[in-house]
Amino acid sequence: MFEHLQPLPADPILNLMVQYRQDTNPNKVDLGVGVYKDEAGNTPIMAAVTEAEKIILATETTKSYIGPAGAEGFNHHVSRLLLGNQHSVLSDQRLAIAQTPGGCGALRMAAEFVAKCRSDVTVWVSTPTWANHIPLLQGAGLTIAEYPYFDKDTKGVQFDAMMDMLSKQTKAGDIVLLHGCCHNPSGADLSREQWDAVAALCVEKGLMPFVDIAYQGLGDGLGEDAYGLRKLADTVPEMLIASSCSKNFGLYRERTGAVMVLAASAEQAKISGSLLFSTIRGHYSMPPAHGAAIVETILSNEKLTQMWDTELTEMRQRILQLRHALADQIAAAGCEQSFAFIPEQKGMFSFLGISKEQVARLRDEYSIYMVDSSRVNIAGLNSSNLDYVAQSLTNVLKG
Ligand code: PMP
Repeated sequence: MFEHLQPLPADPILNLMVQYRQDTNPNKVDLGVGVYKDEAGNTPIMAAVTEAEKIILATETTKSYIGPAGAEGFNHHVSRLLLGNQHSVLSDQRLAIAQTPGGCGALRMAAEFVAKCRSDVTVWVSTPTWANHIPLLQGAGLTIAEYPYFDKDTKGVQFDAMMDMLSKQTKAGDIVLLHGCCHNPSGADLSREQWDAVAALCVEKGLMPFVDIAYQGLGDGLGEDAYGLRKLADTVPEMLIASSCSKNFGLYRERTGAVMVLAASAEQAKISGSLLFSTIRGHYSMPPAHGAAIVETILSNEKLTQMWDTELTEMRQRILQLRHALADQIAAAGCEQSFAFIPEQKGMFSFLGISKEQVARLRDEYSIYMVDSSRVNIAGLNSSNLDYVAQSLTNVLKG
C-alpha cells in the first residue's frame, strides 16, 4: 500500500528551523518560527504556569477521562477571558464551548461542525492568512475563497477593497474568517471603527464571522485585543470562535485551546453543543488535560492571574519596544527605505516587505533566517542581535 507514496515537500518553516540549527555562524539569528522568545533567546515557561503545575501535582487525584467538551472550569474561565465577565451571550446561555488540542484543534473542529450544518458553505479568508488555515478548513471539506487584506504599499489593511469584496461577492450563510488580533503573518490589524463596520456588514449580508484569536494579550492588552470579537458577539446572531492558549500562556506543546459556537438562542446553543461534542468524539474523542488544567488553575486564582498578567504585559511591552528599536536602528544604519510601519503593527509578526532574493541573501550571507514572504518574528530580536539585523538588512537593501 505504501510503495506508491511520493514524499511531500518539507514544510517551509520546519525546513528553516533545520537549516538554522545546522548553521555554525555564531551571529545567526532566527526570526522564522512563531514562538515568543525572551532577551536571552529562550522560550521560557511562565512563572505562573510553573506555580500552577505545582498546585496540580499536589492536588490532582485522577487521570480518568474528562469527556469531549474537556474541563468545565477551563471552558468557564476561557469564555470569560474572551468575551468579558458580563457578556449577554454568557448570561443568555447562547454559548456552546469545548476545550480543544490547541487553536488548530479548535479551527478544525469548528470547520467539521460547520460542514455538518451545511456542506455548501464558503469560508472567506484574508489574503494572506496563516498558512495552516487552508489545510485545516479545506480538510473538513469547506470551500475557501479569499478577500483582500494586507496592502503591500501602505503596510496596513486594504479595508475598502476588503469590504467591497465581502459585500459584493459573498452569499448569505458564508463564513468570514477574521484574525481577532495580531494578524498572522502581517501584523496589520483592523481599527475599532473597521471592526464596527465588519460587524454591521455581517448582519446586513447574513454572513457568519469566525474569529481565530491566537494572540490575545500580545497586541494592545487582554481586553483591547478582544474588542473585535466582543463587538461581533454583541452584534451578530451566530458566530464561531477558535482560541489558543499557546502564545499567551506559553503552552505551545501542551495543546490548549477552545472552540466556541455562539448560537441565536439557548436552545440552539444546546443542540449545537451536542453536534459539536459528537464531532469531537468522532475525531480525537477528548482533549488532553494538562494544559487546560494549568490555565484553569491560573484563572481561578487571583494571585496567579495577577502573576500571569504581569508576565504577559512584560512580553507585550518587550515586543513593542523591539518594534520601535528595529525601526530606529534601520533608520540609524542609513537605510533609504522607511520601516516606520513596524511599530504600528501588532503582535509577534511583521512583513519586512523585501524580495525573496533579499530574504535568501540575508540567510546565506548573514545567517539571518526568516520565511520567504519576509515575515519576521519580532520576538526573535534582542539587544545583542538588533544592530546586526538592522545593519545586515540595510546592506542587502543597498544592493
Ligand atoms: N491561529 C493562528 C493565526 C496562529 O498563528 C496559530 C499558531 N501559530 C494558531 C491559530 C494555532 O495555534 P496552536 O494550535 O498552536 O494553539
